[in-house]
Amino acid sequence: MTTFECGPTTIAIRARYDEVVSDRWPVFVRPQPGELLSSWAHRLAFANGIAPRSFGRVLGFSGGMWSPSLDMNFQTDAVNILSARTGVSLPQLFTMSLKGSPLKRLLLPLRDDGRRRGSAWLQFCPQCLAEDAQPHFRRQWRLSTRISCAHHRCGLRDRCPSCRSRIAAFNQVELVPQHFCVTCGFDLRQAPKVSVSPSVRSLDQCIHDICTLEAITDAMLSNSLIRRLLAIPDICRQYPAASLVGLSTSARIRCFVRLAMRPNDWLIEDDDAVVALWRRSILSAGGHASLIGLLADTLERKRLRFRPEKRRQPMTELSTLLTAYLRMMENPRRRSV
Ligand SMILES: [Zn+2]
Ligand SMILES: [Zn+2]
Repeated sequence: MTTFECGPTTIAIRARYDEVVSDRWPVFVRPQPGELLSSWAHRLAFANGIAPRSFGRVLGFSGGMWSPSLDMNFQTDAVNILSARTGVSLPQLFTMSLKGSPLKRLLLPLRDDGRRRGSAWLQFCPQCLAEDAQPHFRRQWRLSTRISCAHHRCGLRDRCPSCRSRIAAFNQVELVPQHFCVTCGFDLRQAPKVSVSPSVRSLDQCIHDICTLEAITDAMLSNSLIRRLLAIPDICRQYPAASLVGLSTSARIRCFVRLAMRPNDWLIEDDDAVVALWRRSILSAGGHASLIGLLADTLERKRLRFRPEKRRQPMTELSTLLTAYLRMMENPRRRSV
């Protein structure tokens, strides 16, 4: 296999079809860390010279939001084709999907109600896309609780700034990379920066850290955290009766601005005193993204030893994990890992 650079994309050309006994597609596209399955599928289609809408048909879909559906449902026939034709294993494809996510209720819905303030299924950070060697969309940009990019210290977007359309790369009929608006062709990497204050970004990060840890321990299934997060528009009195998942990114940013100005009791309170202590600790430190990422990666690797179809079982007792975490926090040397 020959690998070479071609503009912003590294492509690997396999031997000619008639020279090998292989069912692989000619161009291999490596999944990027944290990439969403649909994003990789769009890049794979483009690299192999097929527009995403036609590529959906190759995988057995008849149209519509086929790739967002693939993220959610991990359709067996489609993922078997993807795995067989690329060599990427089913477990790796599974980690890129959102199938069985314990945060499912916090994911942005796959619907477009046409309202200006309504949610879109996917968000993006223009600067992340601009810096990517291979521009790609992240799994965490599907979460309604994420409103900013910690790396670029800016707000996320969910619409093309030129024509206000939502991202619809699944519907692209031209051979165009997914970071160009399907409706007007605007390069999403050029979208202006959205300003978000440090206190709002910190709240966003803390909520994400709390969700990440409690999700991997399955603690969320038995507490009211998700319900409270969904009620954020009501709790901050910005949009009474609205659900967080039903709002656009800019409307959710407005909610977080108001939330950041009030005490965090609404987020900390829990029947379990250890959980409350844990949340308070994260909030007082402004989040521990790298440490929690490390814990999450370790536990995710353990989770993958189970078959994707199997119902997820709690891998770790929350109290055990929290004890380990608090010990790490007390030891500055290990915290810097
Ligand atoms: Zn970014
Ligand atoms: Zn546009």
